[in-house]
Amino acid sequence: MKTAVVTGGAGFLGSHLCERLVAEGMRVVCVDNLVTGKRENLRALDGSPAFSFLRHDVSRPFEIEGPVDFVLHFASPASPIDYLELPIQTLKVGSLGTHNSLGLAKAKGARYLLASTSEVYGDPLVHPQPESYWGNVNPVGPRGVYDEAKRFAEAMVMAYHRVHGLDTRIVRIFNTYGPRMRPRDGRVVPAFVQQALSGQPLTVFGDGGQTRSFCYVDDLIEGIFRLLESDQVDPVNIGNPHEMTILQFAHAIREAVGSDSPIDFRPLPVDDPKARQPDIALARRVLGWEPRVPLAEGLRRTIGYFREVLENAEA
Ligand code: NAD
Ligand code: UDP
Repeated sequence: MKTAVVTGGAGFLGSHLCERLVAEGMRVVCVDNLVTGKRENLRALDGSPAFSFLRHDVSRPFEIEGPVDFVLHFASPASPIDYLELPIQTLKVGSLGTHNSLGLAKAKGARYLLASTSEVYGDPLVHPQPESYWGNVNPVGPRGVYDEAKRFAEAMVMAYHRVHGLDTRIVRIFNTYGPRMRPRDGRVVPAFVQQALSGQPLTVFGDGGQTRSFCYVDDLIEGIFRLLESDQVDPVNIGNPHEMTILQFAHAIREAVGSDSPIDFRPLPVDDPKARQPDIALARRVLGWEPRVPLAEGLRRTIGYFREVLENAEA
């Protein structure tokens, strides 16, 4: 039985990933300090002999007993609200947390996978964004704490690969949505869905003309699993190229929920990227991967989840 260590495994993506790895027959150790994650996200794995949970801040060194075959580093605040509230923790988990988890992989001779982000491209001047684009990031703006931490993390991973011969993977994740996002984590999907479900105005930032491309979580996890199994060391974009403006997205959510919430335009946050769409030619070629879940279906599943969360909160 192979063993995988997943940092940040109690978060939105990490919990789906832990479930997938256990389903693939692995023993999984989740290491998480629960700063933005929840233990309940892992409820489906409680009682499984293949799963264990260690509460720990991975910006501080840690050890895992026994053999480890894979280390997947997902720990980091990920929503703009979270990383603006936790700027130093975000920089630390991207730098020290990456260093500590790389050290674990090196000590165990494990394969390492870093959860990087489309934010390494910043406010991109090339569209759509291929992996070869170096990005347009403001290092001293408020988002710099996240973007630069992830850029540092990528550099550190490549240094461990080149210097120590560590077997490494880097996934650049584009906007992903689905069940287990926190209703109030501030990202656009939970914000709009929660607002539409409770009849509140949908808060569109700026004029809503900025674009994003949304990937359903199951598609993302499939792409990450294929990357883990591949021999692709250079970064790979995983995301859904279906691009839309945030205003179009607000209308799509209102329609999917069946809500007549008005639109409330609010100021655009500093350095909010104007456009984002993954170029997934590389993922198609080397992983044979592309997203399968259409937006309407992904939204249906996500809205169902948030309906339940809101009903339970009211009960
Ligand atoms: P999340 O906030 O739901 O999950 C992050 C998890 O990391 C949480 O469980 C949190 O408690 C944990 N964590 C944070 N700092 C930690 C620390 N110092 N020690 C231990 N645990 C710590 O966010 P998510 O959306 O699931 O994102 C997971 C990863 O994927 C992040 O690295 C993020 O940068 C990356 N990512 C996500 C998206 C997306 O659209 N969801 C896009 C790009 C990149
Ligand atoms: N956004 C919005 N209203 C909200 C939350 C976000 O209009 O309540 C916009 C935000 O300005 C950005 C896009 O939606 O242009 C995606 O934001 P999110 O925080 O989900 O992720 P980002 O892609 O910016 O990291």
